[in-house]
Amino acid sequence: MTQITNHLPTKELQALDAAHHMHPFTEGAALARKGARIITRAKGVYLTDSEGHQILDGMAGLWCVNVGYGRKDLAEVAARQIEELCYYNTFFQTSHVPAIALAAEIAKLAPGDLNHVFYAGSGSEANDTNIRLVRRYWDVKGKPEKKVIISRKNGYHGSTMGGASLGGMSPMHAQGGLPIPDIVHIGQPHWWAEGGDMTPEEFGLMRARELEAKIEELGADRVAAFIGEPIQGAGGVIVPPATYWPEIQRICDKYGILLIADEVITGFGRTGNWFGSQTMGIRPHIMTIAKGLSSGYAPIGGSVICDEVHETIAGSGDDFNHGYTYSGHPVAAAVALKNLELIQEENILHHVKKVAHPYLMERWQALADHPLVGEAKLVGLMGSIALTPDKATRAKFASEAGTVGLRCRERCFANNLVMRHVGDRMIISPPLVITPSEIDVLIERATKSLDECYAGLKSDGLLVAA
Ligand SMILES: *Cc1c(COP(=O)(O)O)cnc(C)c1O
Repeated sequence: MTQITNHLPTKELQALDAAHHMHPFTEGAALARKGARIITRAKGVYLTDSEGHQILDGMAGLWCVNVGYGRKDLAEVAARQIEELCYYNTFFQTSHVPAIALAAEIAKLAPGDLNHVFYAGSGSEANDTNIRLVRRYWDVKGKPEKKVIISRKNGYHGSTMGGASLGGMSPMHAQGGLPIPDIVHIGQPHWWAEGGDMTPEEFGLMRARELEAKIEELGADRVAAFIGEPIQGAGGVIVPPATYWPEIQRICDKYGILLIADEVITGFGRTGNWFGSQTMGIRPHIMTIAKGLSSGYAPIGGSVICDEVHETIAGSGDDFNHGYTYSGHPVAAAVALKNLELIQEENILHHVKKVAHPYLMERWQALADHPLVGEAKLVGLMGSIALTPDKATRAKFASEAGTVGLRCRERCFANNLVMRHVGDRMIISPPLVITPSEIDVLIERATKSLDECYAGLKSDGLLVAA
């Protein structure tokens, strides 16, 4: 048997990885030629790789390690739960303490009457659940023709057939025959890229009204729900204009359409409040949760459901024929519960709001003075900068979209900073516990990377507008 060890030379690990491990969202052959970067340990906001580099993780893994890496409390809770009750299901009229306690805690933290939790193993699964939930809800209400779910282009809702269909990522739809039937997409509120000569406020209203037009086109009697991320994450940390969400809310209310807020990234403190819906002033019927729920220490997600939707389905006189082996997995639930406890005990929301956000905001916005940067956005601790050859006109580069972003990301990697690129936009989502001095390191490495990227573009003649 192959020993799993951190002491194999990097080259050998890379060769085994290339031979046997197929990576998500990756061109396998290109990675095999280059060799994966191998992360061996992590503590706080820093990763260590197999070559001993200390890398500041500006993405908290994949937007999830909100309390930072290497928490002993969470390790101990997991170990204890494995000994006490490693697994039991919640299908056949049984329950267990971690699933119960976590659901009660989520209900306490969630706004309004979002009082019921259906567990999944991930955000994608939870969004698949949401498709089942909203269609079942309208069935029970005697309106089985209300099936269509309206979503946004460039939204991200996961990678299962359902999740990727709800999402509006064209490279994902292009593979595997997506979207599945009865999911339709409207435009995104991405003013920087698509706003033309409109003000952000005008553009926000215009994009929200695409929902109304789509409902009118299909007929409200066919539309089950609208789903959106309060702030698009994987799409490039796109903060909608202030006019957008109030108008979406008005339209959902007017036509009796269920509103699903996908809070997988924005939940549990990322925007400075418990949920992005609170930050953006939305009243969803269902929220999708995952990622920060356990700070990524264990895989768990779920749907948080309002009283009316829950009572309708629970009182239908029939089973809800849906569930996962690992719905409410006791180890994951115990870890998530402890994670929520840490966020409260350590006042992490207060830290985000009063310390980390204001400090990072000042330094992040100053990046907009860099010759390569157009706008710099930051809500709570999720931020983005738009790279552009000409800020005045918000121009795109002449090179294929993503060329410049990828070059910038590679400079960041070389400078021991994880900052991701989405097209030619750079994004961050650091652990919520990041301190001002760690923010200084982040900004210093980001600035150095932008400088190097800019110099490289200049010398390669790529500083050209489309
Ligand atoms: C990551 C993400 C998902 C998918 O979650 P997984 O745990 O990767 O399945 C869904 N929605 C949003 C908004 C996400 O960012």
